[in-house]
Amino acid sequence: MTMTAVHTQAVSVQGLVLRRSPLGESDQIFTLFTYELGKIKAAARGSLKPKNPLRGILEPFHQVQAHLVHSDRSSLYRFQSAEVIGRPSTFLNHLTALHTAYLVLECLDRYCEPENANPELYEATIAALGQVNREPDRAGYFIRCFCFRFFTLSGYAMDWHHCARCNRQRPPDRSAFCLPAAGGVVCSSCASPDEARKEWIVESDVLALASRAAAGESIRSETVDQQTESIFERRSDRLIREIFSHYLDGIPRSLLMMEKLETSPDGENSE
Ligand SMILES: [Zn+2]
Repeated sequence: MTMTAVHTQAVSVQGLVLRRSPLGESDQIFTLFTYELGKIKAAARGSLKPKNPLRGILEPFHQVQAHLVHSDRSSLYRFQSAEVIGRPSTFLNHLTALHTAYLVLECLDRYCEPENANPELYEATIAALGQVNREPDRAGYFIRCFCFRFFTLSGYAMDWHHCARCNRQRPPDRSAFCLPAAGGVVCSSCASPDEARKEWIVESDVLALASRAAAGESIRSETVDQQTESIFERRSDRLIREIFSHYLDGIPRSLLMMEKLETSPDGENSE
């Protein structure tokens, strides 16, 4: 009888913890979005036991250095050990910011292909969570900007500058109909009577912010006035929803939650 060798391989990756789910009595499976491998699942044996060294390490939003093993028999990785290399100390205590930031985790968990490395998306993610952590009161703004960057880096880039039908350039200070299903902005002569609705017109300021966010240009506080930022928050929601529902498989639950929290007075929250 011949023995079949099981090949195991040790890997060390940097990743963001997206989600955990229990496996049996004391084990858990974690979903990580890693720099090196993209989204992966890894089992942590005994991690629900009180004295397990991984307790408190593998929490959602933690950025960890994970030492894993992988065998050719299973697509599931296994944890050997892990340490925290970054955690958002501020926004974990800020209810609105925390719920808003969950949209980032849901985007990666729900829409990213498994084991498909996307280092640029990893870096955009860590940068967005860092912004929310530094200024949790502006979480809604940063997370909406992240959504546009996420669409670009996931292959669903909108054209904010040219009409999606006739390719004519939009004058930079001109509002336009914005129809994500058409691929971006549409000029008034190309919009069908059905599409030429007032509520589908997007202001040039909002289009400018969306296009900068999509391109990954860091938007510093001092370059955006508060009024433009709040118009952007209100007006970009339709675009974000439509891009999710047209190109991805539906609207994330945490987006609905974020909008609900922002409109209810109970959503107001300090430290
Ligand atoms: Zn046109």
